[in-house]
Amino acid sequence: MSRYTDANCKLCRREGQKLFLKGERCYSSKCAIERRNYAPGQHGQARKKQSDYGNQLREKQKAKRFYGMQETQFRNLFEKAAKRQGKTGENLLILLETRLDNVVFRLGFAASRKEARQLVTHGHFTVNGKKADIPSMEVKAGDVIAVKEKSQKSPKFKEIKEMSITVPAWMSVDVDKLEGKVVAMPRREEIDTPIAEHLIVELYSK
Ligand code: SF4
Repeated sequence: MSRYTDANCKLCRREGQKLFLKGERCYSSKCAIERRNYAPGQHGQARKKQSDYGNQLREKQKAKRFYGMQETQFRNLFEKAAKRQGKTGENLLILLETRLDNVVFRLGFAASRKEARQLVTHGHFTVNGKKADIPSMEVKAGDVIAVKEKSQKSPKFKEIKEMSITVPAWMSVDVDKLEGKVVAMPRREEIDTPIAEHLIVELYSK
């Protein structure tokens, strides 16, 4: 049997859905969720009834894994969301979506959020013309995210110039220039990440 799974894929199998952690593979028939959609481990196929707490915990874990965050980072972002006006859950999702690494991924400049994080850390991007190498940086409406001029010559980004990219309504992209813009802050209905944010709010409100 061919090898098709690894640590990232196990995370998807644990959550029972695609978290899109491995770029192109996630859209292919090699995806582990397509082939073994049950939790990893000896008891992975056993049916389990989840408690309310279990459901809330799973939802938080799923969100963390989707966006590739550590517990402390995620908790801090939640506290930030809670201090803002409006619904905490929606604020949290908006904060997650407007992280620089996620924006780079959404603009199609990286195949996965993990790759986006690496590219940002390696200094391939600017925000409003200034070097931006912190993946957790929060972008705002009007910000212009671009691949650094020097980096545009790399095969990775030359390849992207040949691609047709569709971005969410709250962004625009100019593939020729390898540049994107946050046109407006995302609204809840424009965020397609399958997360029931109210469960995370319930978990952290205990
Ligand atoms: Fe692996 Fe991607 Fe499929 Fe998840 S979505 S199981 S990371 S291939």
